[in-house]
Amino acid sequence: MSDRGSALARAGIHALPLYAPDAAACAIDLSDNTNLWGAPPAALRAVNELPASSLSRYPSLYSEPLRDALLRYAGVQAPGVGVVTGCGSDDILDSTMRAFGVPGESIAFCAPTFSMIPVLARLNGLVPVEIPFANGFDIDADRLVECNAKITYLCSPNNPTSTAISRAAAEHVVAHAKGIVLIDEAYAEFAPEVFVDLIARSEHVVVARTFSKAFGLAGLRVGYAVGSNEVVRLIERARGPYKVSSVAERAVLAVFSEGADGLEWVARHARLTMENRARFIGALRGLGLDPLESAANFVMVPTPRAPELQRALSARGILVRAFGGMRRDVPALSASNGAALRIGVGPWEEMMVPTLDALREALT
Ligand code: PMP
Repeated sequence: MSDRGSALARAGIHALPLYAPDAAACAIDLSDNTNLWGAPPAALRAVNELPASSLSRYPSLYSEPLRDALLRYAGVQAPGVGVVTGCGSDDILDSTMRAFGVPGESIAFCAPTFSMIPVLARLNGLVPVEIPFANGFDIDADRLVECNAKITYLCSPNNPTSTAISRAAAEHVVAHAKGIVLIDEAYAEFAPEVFVDLIARSEHVVVARTFSKAFGLAGLRVGYAVGSNEVVRLIERARGPYKVSSVAERAVLAVFSEGADGLEWVARHARLTMENRARFIGALRGLGLDPLESAANFVMVPTPRAPELQRALSARGILVRAFGGMRRDVPALSASNGAALRIGVGPWEEMMVPTLDALREALT
């Protein structure tokens, strides 16, 4: 094969990494922060009972049938406030960068954070500017603002650290950043505090959410963002039509309308996740490990032995993510040489007990 096609690629495309997390098939998969109890029964029923038109016809252009329910769920129904949906919140993050970032401009964020952010930035011609976290994994609000970036990305709870940022720091960024402030709340349902109310403080604030985590619908790929109508309609233009399928739209509507099997199922399992998270963190400490304080549905455990422990767990049929080479600006990550395990939280007996048993064995 000639490499002529390859030579036609845009500058920088060859250097973009493919998203390729560990793919080893394991009986217990705690590696991707999804809902380990599965999907809400209301969504499953909606998908099982699809009319043929859900497949043969196009979906709504911009998820109009979902908009009211999303605004109500986010608690932001007010004049001038709007919502945009996307094919997962990845699509929202990508479209926001495209809508506001002129190639060559920058997007600033505290690192380590969601690994797709620098990738989507480069894909859109933007320059990712990494700032180290302040101690305790709060964002360094002053340094972020000083970047004068076109977009400032805040992720709370943050992936992969599981930590939440402080309200004071988030408010400081919102008050002083010149450009768009994109707040990623993919794990909002597990957090002690959310920042969606900040959209009322500034027309430059956008809060992105997803159905992939607490809602248990990662396979359907639905995300959304709320913000001023002006800003979300621009994101929608950059996004394009038909990004949420008819199947996904029906499932999401069913979750919003079928109480016990829908939203209540989601809330109940988020509560269970938080209970199991506290119990799991306590048990990890009992094993001599030092997990970070988590506000999400996963736990980060800084340890220089992360790769070795991941292999040991995988050999026992349990898949977790091992991170290496992370910034060492904060003491927790400097002590572990920038290495850590990220472990999803799910049903106690079926998943967390075998994980603790396997870790105990591997550590001794
Ligand atoms: N934001 C964060 C912080 C995430 O961790 C993820 C998924 N890992 C996403 C966004 C994207 O999720 P999705 O595209 O499935 O909505």
